[in-house]
Amino acid sequence: MSWHVLGVGSLGSLWATRLFRAGVPVQLILRSPQRLAAYRQAGGLTLVEQGQSQLYAIAASDLDDPAPIARLLLACKAYDAAEAIAAVAHRLAPGAEVILLQNGLGSQDEVARQLPGRRCLPASSTEGAFRDGDWRVVFAGQGHTWLGDPSGGSSPAWLSDLQRSHIPHTWSPDILARLWRKLALNCAINPLTVLHGCRNGELLRHRDEVDALCTELVQLLLGNGQAEAARDLHDDVWRVIEATAANYSSMYQDVASGRRTEISYLLGYACAAAEHAALQLPHLKAVHQRLLGHLDRHGLPRY
Ligand code: NAP
Repeated sequence: MSWHVLGVGSLGSLWATRLFRAGVPVQLILRSPQRLAAYRQAGGLTLVEQGQSQLYAIAASDLDDPAPIARLLLACKAYDAAEAIAAVAHRLAPGAEVILLQNGLGSQDEVARQLPGRRCLPASSTEGAFRDGDWRVVFAGQGHTWLGDPSGGSSPAWLSDLQRSHIPHTWSPDILARLWRKLALNCAINPLTVLHGCRNGELLRHRDEVDALCTELVQLLLGNGQAEAARDLHDDVWRVIEATAANYSSMYQDVASGRRTEISYLLGYACAAAEHAALQLPHLKAVHQRLLGHLDRHGLPRY
């Protein structure tokens, strides 16, 4: 059974090339006949790993291809996920499975709402990749991916494809807790790196601000029934800051490059969830407002 990959950017390409080179059947879905023509011109996807480039001539089609889809990896940004899935929903076979690689929370529900009866499996990844050209992906950071089914159910047999492709992964019985924990880590670190214009490690100079956010994020997690995700959050935030001290956060990089951020699915989602649970979290709200102002000043979308 073939994998289809929709969202042939950094992570989508990283997955597609590793599946393909392991001999797993994989098909790319490109957004338009023009993008398909450009892809064919390039001759395939190039994976750059430890300085070595390798071209993989993976089969591709565009959104109009009518072939049914049994297993889909959705690898676009959170803000594109709902629109992207709408374009292929009619092609999903009964019992199709959709793996959701989006960061943050909110997009998974937007997608699942459009796919009644299909199994939607959110994932959370610490792998790092970026594009250094069209149809080229650089594998920038080894990491791990957790996948799971918020509705329960057993682990799928196709995890063996990931094993065979050397995609480090774990089936997670509580994937929502993982997504909430990652959201909280992101909210404690990324917005402040944007507002202070600094690397993660420089947040040591803003310890009070980070700690105040952590305290409120713990309240947010507990108020949303995520006690496990709240456990030792403070310590974990400082551990991540120290372990990634020299890095610029993904949100910092998006803003610095003039790219749209995923704010609505990170801090925006956190603030909306706080309001929904009638929680007063003034520091979180203030950072959200400051970040929106910052995006306005840089001419970037606030959603
Ligand atoms: P990306 O490089 O921007 O790739 C997204 C891809 O989706 C682009 O190729 C885009 O096409 C395509 N796309 C968007 N809308 C589409 C549509 N309607 N139809 C077809 N294709 C569509 O993004 P990414 O960095 O891989 O990130 C994907 C998700 O993974 C994000 O939520 C991100 O936060 C998360 N993540 C990324 C990393 C990483 O290291 N990159 C690590 C962990 C998590 P165009 O190029 O034509 O716009």
